[in-house]
Amino acid sequence: MKKVVKFGGSSLASAEQFKKVGDIIRSDNERKFVVPSAPGKRNDDDTKVTDMLYECYALAEEGKDFKGKLNEIKARYQEIIDGLSLTLSLEDEFKTIAKNFKEKSGKDYAASRGEYLNGIIMANYLGYEFVDAAEVIIFGENGEYDMEKTNELMRACLSSLESAVVPGFYGAYENGCVKTFSRGGSDITGSIVARAIKANVYENWTDVSGFMVADPRIIYKPKSIDTITYKELRELAYMGATVLHEDAIFPVRSEGIPINIKNTNSPDDDGTWIVESTCQKSKYVITGIAGKKGFCAVNIEKDCMNSEIGFGRKVLQAFEDNGISFEHVPSGIDTMTVFVHQDEFMHKEQKVVSGIHRLADPDTIDIEADLALIAVVGRGMKSTRGTAGRIFSALAHANINVKMIDQGSSELNIIIGVANADFETAIKAIYDIFVLSQL
Ligand code: ASP
Repeated sequence: MKKVVKFGGSSLASAEQFKKVGDIIRSDNERKFVVPSAPGKRNDDDTKVTDMLYECYALAEEGKDFKGKLNEIKARYQEIIDGLSLTLSLEDEFKTIAKNFKEKSGKDYAASRGEYLNGIIMANYLGYEFVDAAEVIIFGENGEYDMEKTNELMRACLSSLESAVVPGFYGAYENGCVKTFSRGGSDITGSIVARAIKANVYENWTDVSGFMVADPRIIYKPKSIDTITYKELRELAYMGATVLHEDAIFPVRSEGIPINIKNTNSPDDDGTWIVESTCQKSKYVITGIAGKKGFCAVNIEKDCMNSEIGFGRKVLQAFEDNGISFEHVPSGIDTMTVFVHQDEFMHKEQKVVSGIHRLADPDTIDIEADLALIAVVGRGMKSTRGTAGRIFSALAHANINVKMIDQGSSELNIIIGVANADFETAIKAIYDIFVLSQL
C-alpha cells in the first residue's frame, strides 16, 4: 500500500503544526510521498506566506525596497526551523530569491517559493528526498498543465525513490519558467503525485474533518459527509464548497484512487471519502448543498423562437464573441435565459446585448441582476421520488421566490436560482427539510 499525503497551509503554519504532521506521517509507514503547502495563518489575524510573497513581489516589481517584507517571510520559516531544532539554513535560498525578485522573475515564481521552501524544510525534517515540482510538473503554452507529460515525468522521477517531498502549487513551462496553479492548487499537485505512483489512497489533510452537508458559515454545525462520489464533489466544489480545489479530482479519477479528507488537528476522525462509485447510501437523500451569489440572468424573448432553427446558437455566439462563459440556459417557448457571472458580464453587457440583437433579432432583452444559484446534489435523488417537490415546498414555506430551476439529466443535482438576498434563507430551508427533519 502506498499513500500520498498532502498537508494544507494551516497544517504547516508553525513548528507546532509541523510536529503534528510529523507524528501523522511517522505513525503509518505507507505515508511515503508528501505534498506540502506554504505556511498558512497561525491565527485569524495572521497572513498566509503566499500572500506575503505576492505583496513582497509587488514592491519589487514597482522597483521599491522589498527587503523588509522578505525578511518577515524569512522569519516565518526560521521560526519553524528553530521550533523543530533543525540545523538547516535557508540563507542561500533567500539570497537567490532576492536576486530573482530584483530581476523581476514573475509573480508565479514569487508565490511558488512558499511551497518550495516549506518542501525543503519538510524533507529535512522527515529525512525524505526533496523533488522540485518545477522539474516534474509541466505546463503547456496555453497555461494549462500537461497532464500526460507530467504523469510520465513524475512517474519516472518518483519510481526510483523510497520516499519524497514534492512541494505543491507549482510547476514550470518547458523553458523552466515557474508557473503556479490557481489558489489552493497544492490539492492538484497531491492528486498528480497520487496518480503517478498509483497510490492506494490520496490523503488530503486540512483543518476540518471533511466535507459538510452545507457551508458552516450559513448552517450552525452542519452534519458531515462520510462518502461522496467524484461527480457529486465536482458539482459541489464548482458551486462554492471550498474544502478541495475543484480540479483536484481529475488526476486521481483516471486511476480510480479514492481521496480521504482528514483533519490534522483531529487525526482519528474518519473524515470524508471521495470515491468513484459506492453502494453506500448517503445518510440523507441529498449529499450536499452549495451555492454562489453574484449571477445575472439575461432574458431574451422572441415570438416562436422554439421553431427557429439556430436561435440558441446565435444568442450564445454573442456571449462567446465577448469571452463570457455561461452557467445555465433554461428556455421556454418564446423565451430563453442565459445565466452568467455578474462581475464578468457587467462591463461588457451592452456589447453582448447589441450582439444578440444583431445576430438573433429578438423582440426584447431584459437583464436581471443580483441572483444566486444553489445546487442541491445527491446520488440518492435518482432513486427517490419527491425530492424536487420537497425542495420547492420548503422554499415556498420560507417565502422564497424561485427564479430558475434546472435539473441535470444525470439526476444528480437540482440547481435553483433565487435573489441574492434570499440565498442564506433558501439554504437553511433546504437543509432543514432534508437533514434536520430526518433526525
Ligand atoms: N499556498 C497556495 C495558496 O495559498 C496554494 C495552496 O495552499 O494550495 O493558495
